[in-house]
Amino acid sequence: MERILVTGGAGFIGSHFVNRLVQASDITHITVLDALTYAGNRDNLRAALTSPKVTFAHGDILDRALVDHLMAEHDAVVHFAAESHVDRSLADAGGFVRTNVLGTQNLLDSARRIGIRKFVHASTDEVYGGLPSGSAMEYDQLRPTVPYSASKAGSDLIAASYFHSYGVPVCITRSSNNYGPRQYPEKLIPLFVSRLLNGEQVTIHGNGEHVRNWLHVEDNCQGVELVLRRGIPGEVYNLGGGTDLTTNELTAMLLRETGATWDRVVYVPDRAANDIRYSMDWKKMGQLGYQPQHPLAQGLAQTVDWYRRNPAWWTDRAAA
Ligand code: NAD
Repeated sequence: MERILVTGGAGFIGSHFVNRLVQASDITHITVLDALTYAGNRDNLRAALTSPKVTFAHGDILDRALVDHLMAEHDAVVHFAAESHVDRSLADAGGFVRTNVLGTQNLLDSARRIGIRKFVHASTDEVYGGLPSGSAMEYDQLRPTVPYSASKAGSDLIAASYFHSYGVPVCITRSSNNYGPRQYPEKLIPLFVSRLLNGEQVTIHGNGEHVRNWLHVEDNCQGVELVLRRGIPGEVYNLGGGTDLTTNELTAMLLRETGATWDRVVYVPDRAANDIRYSMDWKKMGQLGYQPQHPLAQGLAQTVDWYRRNPAWWTDRAAA
C-alpha cells in the first residue's frame, strides 16, 4: 500500500499518525482530508506538510464528489475524522450523528465503488460502555451510554456491515483514552494541564473514582499503522495497553507535574451518564506485534512540558 488517505488528519491523533507515516519509506503519498472544525488545525500538520509526500485537502467527509475523487487516487483509507468530545455530544448530538455515522457511511460507499484495498476505521473503547469489572473483548456487545459513543458504535456497525455485505476490506480499531501534545484543551488532560499552568481551578465530576485507561497517542498510532499493514479485513482490534487510573490518581500526577496543589481542585455533582470504568483486552493487537512504548509518568511529563512550551497553541483554544 503506497498511497494513503487520512481523514481528520489535522486533528489530534490524525496529525500524529500523519507524522508517523511520513517516516515510512514505502508510503509514497499521504492526503489529509479535513474539514478544519474547531478541533482541526492546519498548523498541526506544519512539519508533515514540509514533506513533498503530503497533500492537504480541505473538505467534508460527507462531500460525495470530493471523497470519490480522493478515494480513487489512494490505495487505503485511515478514517479518524469525527466529532470527538463527549460533553459536546450531550449538548447537541446532531453533528455527531451527521459526521460520525453518515460521514463514515459516505466514505464506505465511496470505498465500495472505487474498490479500496484497506479501510481502517478508528473507534473507541467507549462503545463497550462502562465495565464494573473484567475487560471487553472485541466480540463483546456494544453498550454505549452517551451520544458520542453511540454515534461511534453506529459507525462501527455500519463499517462492519460493509465488510459483510459488500466485501469492503474494513478493519476497526478501538482505542482507549489518548493523551499527548496537540490535544484540544477540552479533553481532560490538556484541560487540566492548561488550567493548572494558568493558575486556574480544575473540576472533577462526581467522586473522581471513574477509571480510564490512558494511552500515549504515539502508541495508538503504532497500533493503527500495524492494523493498516497487517490487520485482517472484517476484524476489530482493541488498542489498549495504557495505564488504568482513577481521575483522582491522574489529577494527583498532573498536580505534581505542574507544581500545583489540591486546593485548585473542585468536585461537582457527576453528570448523568459517566461510565464507571473502561477496560479492554488487547491480546489480539499483541499478536500483530503491538507493544506500547510510553510509560505513563514519562508520557505525562513530556506532554506537560509540551503545553508549558507552547502556550500560544492552547491559549486561544482554552478560552473558546
Ligand atoms: P479531534 O477532535 O482532535 O480531531 C477530529 C478531526 O476531524 C479534526 O481535525 C476535525 O476538523 C476533523 N473533522 C470533523 N468533522 C469532519 C468532517 N465532517 N469532515 C472532515 N473532517 C472532519 O479527534 P481525535 O481525538 O484526534 O480523535 C480521532 C479519532 O479517534 C476519532 O474518530 C475519535 O472518535 C477516535 N478516538 C479518539 C480517542 C481520544 O482519546 N482522543 C480515543 C479513542 C478513539
